[in-house]
Amino acid sequence: MLTIHGRNLVGGQFRPALSEKRIDLVSPSSGRLIGSIPASEKRDIDAAVSAARAAVEGGTWSRQTAVERGRLLTALGALVSKHADKLAQIESLDTGKPLRQARQDIELTARYFEFYGGGADKFGGETLPYLNDFNIQLWREPLGVTGHIIPWNYPSQILARTLAPSLAMGNATVLKPAEDACLTPIHLSELAVEAGFPDGSINVVTGSGDVAGASLASHVGIDFLSFTGSPETGASVAAAAASNRIACALELGGKSPQIVFEDADLESAYPVLVQAIIQNAGQTCSAGSRILVQSSVYDLVVEELGRRFAELEAGPHDLDLDLGPLISHKQKTRVLGYLELADQSTMVAQGNIVSDAPPDGFYVRPTLLGPIDGDSRLAQEEIFGPVLICTPFSDESEAVRLANGTDYGLVAGVWTSDGSRQLRMAKALNCGQVFINCFGAGGGVELPFGGVGKSGHGREKGMIALHTYSRLKTVVQFHGH
Ligand code: NDP
Repeated sequence: MLTIHGRNLVGGQFRPALSEKRIDLVSPSSGRLIGSIPASEKRDIDAAVSAARAAVEGGTWSRQTAVERGRLLTALGALVSKHADKLAQIESLDTGKPLRQARQDIELTARYFEFYGGGADKFGGETLPYLNDFNIQLWREPLGVTGHIIPWNYPSQILARTLAPSLAMGNATVLKPAEDACLTPIHLSELAVEAGFPDGSINVVTGSGDVAGASLASHVGIDFLSFTGSPETGASVAAAAASNRIACALELGGKSPQIVFEDADLESAYPVLVQAIIQNAGQTCSAGSRILVQSSVYDLVVEELGRRFAELEAGPHDLDLDLGPLISHKQKTRVLGYLELADQSTMVAQGNIVSDAPPDGFYVRPTLLGPIDGDSRLAQEEIFGPVLICTPFSDESEAVRLANGTDYGLVAGVWTSDGSRQLRMAKALNCGQVFINCFGAGGGVELPFGGVGKSGHGREKGMIALHTYSRLKTVVQFHGH
């Protein structure tokens, strides 16, 4: 079995934590040891922030043109594609996700670097009409040093999603990955050095959330914080950022509904409804974790989904089944706790864990529940596992009330063949993205993404992320008559 002992990247140097302490890593598929990472502390974060500061204040990085930054990002994307097989193997081993899915994730990782590589020299300021005799320019400037705290569910993709636009705008970055999924971030940091990123432009420091993560979030030396994770930790890092008077982008998950009307093309909808919760074993911020079904077709839809759920198979990442294990024992316990809340009469169907799955892996059977009351905890809280709940609705206004009836608002899916209703629903839904007769739309590197309410704020992905990672300076020039 592959074992990996990772290092931090600080100021262009690969090194262990200053304390030399390490954290063991286990495979979610087997519960067995697969390597270790530096258990970094505040002083490691201090060193990384200082290196990033030096990079943006006089270092080689600060002198790169937009074209050169774009070329570096494009080169990194090409290296990710070149090493896609190895990266996918590592991502799959470290997170437990089926190899097929890890390959898609690595492809998207490369795509983020390509996209922002192409965007770096195509995004600039503006001029404004104003009083006669004045020339008004709006400049787009980098923020300085940006901090990035990412979760374990899509480590490579989220790293690329958050670092690439920041680097495109000329910021220097310090990233803390989740201790449960550090291996691809560590490998990507090695590829970044190979691509030629100057010292200090990218720093990757591993360690626990409450030590390394909290040190980064509260660091006086950062100018912006990007966080993806739980609403609870999101609130604590946002408070730390606020105490230093810096802005942050928070992407905090969701309880995203897919709304199925009686006139929907159900045969097209079924595979998408299942995949939207099964992908990554339901550990996806934008998972379609609730299905609202019009009462007239509720029994039909739930029966067919039940048939499909009963055929699903969970097992070790390298068997490449429908889904792998959850990331950790903690997450497995959490999801099983939610299943205990369900009344037995609402259990529609469960898939299987294959018999040769190691007993110490973190497997949970994919589960379909319904009908579930819209006010219950199962319908209100993010379960973050392969659990899909179904709730009937009678008409459009009840569908909107149920869909908007949680504290979250990240993504929604609408299934109907009525074009006017498609737009009415898109307008009424309180969330950051609406998918009509589709869901997820192939990764969507180009599509602005972010939530409302408990799902967080700020937008990443697409060209809009270049706004997120830059600031506007208004320059007023009096040029006379
Ligand atoms: P967290 O929000 O705690 O973890 C996300 C990131 O924050 C990780 O890098 C973590 O580090 C870090 N972190 C943890 N505590 C702190 C802190 N005090 N200061 C700064 N950084 C910190 O999520 P969990 O892993 O505990 O997962 C719990 C739930 O969160 C899930 O069940 C799911 O509902 C939600 N979640 C949502 C995600 C999304 O994509 N929106 C992704 C992951 C989880 P470390 O892991 O090393 O401790």
